[in-house]
Amino acid sequence: MAATAPVIMRVMASSISTAKRAGGIIRDVLKKGDLGIVDKGKNDPQTEADRSAQRCIIASLAQKFPTVKIIGEEGGSDLNVCDDWLVNELDEGFLQQSCPAEWKDVKPEDFVIWVDPLDGTAEYTQGHVEHVTVLIGIAVKDAAVGGIIHQPFYQQPDGEMGRTIWGLKGLGTGGFTAVPAPAGQFIITTTRSHSNALHQQALNAFASTEVLKVGGAGFKVLQLLEGKAHAYVFATPGCKKWDTCAPEAVLEAQGGCLTNINGEHYAYNADVEHVNRQGVLASLGQDHAALVEKIPAEVRAAVRAK
Ligand code: AMP
Ligand code: MG
Ligand code: MG
Repeated sequence: MAATAPVIMRVMASSISTAKRAGGIIRDVLKKGDLGIVDKGKNDPQTEADRSAQRCIIASLAQKFPTVKIIGEEGGSDLNVCDDWLVNELDEGFLQQSCPAEWKDVKPEDFVIWVDPLDGTAEYTQGHVEHVTVLIGIAVKDAAVGGIIHQPFYQQPDGEMGRTIWGLKGLGTGGFTAVPAPAGQFIITTTRSHSNALHQQALNAFASTEVLKVGGAGFKVLQLLEGKAHAYVFATPGCKKWDTCAPEAVLEAQGGCLTNINGEHYAYNADVEHVNRQGVLASLGQDHAALVEKIPAEVRAAVRAK
């Protein structure tokens, strides 16, 4: 089965297994206690966990799919990793599914894999570990098509640590139970560490009943999927393609929508600029175009000009 499955199914299955291993590395670094924090910019830390998880993910996927382009947040990685970090398994449960017809003949050179080895690093260093996710997004040409969102610190009912959510357009999602957001309310999920005046102006334009401030693009999209919020609003540049590729694919495989704040999808081919200059607007079960219209025209024009 595994050897004959279409490439996209094998890339997804391998990414599921690899994200779980990376989650284990992230837990181990925290347990050891020495985070090895380096500042990449203002409010943009990197730790030993980001570096090690990225090496595990890129080395494992590059070994299995040598001709697929992989772009990781932490730049060029030393791919000489110990055997313990080289993941060979393909998630068997995922491979039981059948491949949507539209992806059956996609060639390795048509893919880009966008890797955020640890989304929510600031929160990881501050002890808000429930916001941390591992993101592996799979783009076909320009479109975010498949995604894995792994939560290393999610405790399963049986005590096992970690939960892995996946989505593939045309197939659906797995690893969680979708819950609609409460009717009669409008709850926004947004950044807790990268706000500014422009962003605040956009937030103020919604008649929200509650604003949740949490870390990471992955965790915010999980809040939409699990009915904790109606929309994810981030009206300023700052998040990158590796932050949104996997969340966009999972959310849209569930029927939601993730775009910039002007309502346009980002392109995820290998040549695009990494920064998402026009912010993020994501929703599930809402009239997405109507949400775009609520954001003041001057805020939308300001991000367009950036
Ligand atoms: P947040 O919603 O602030 O947790 O951000 C979601 C993702 O985008 C995280 O990976 C952040 O590191 C990244 N991000 C957002 N804004 C910025 C910024 N101004 N500088 C660096 N990274 C950012
Ligand atoms: Mg991130
Ligand atoms: Mg990261």
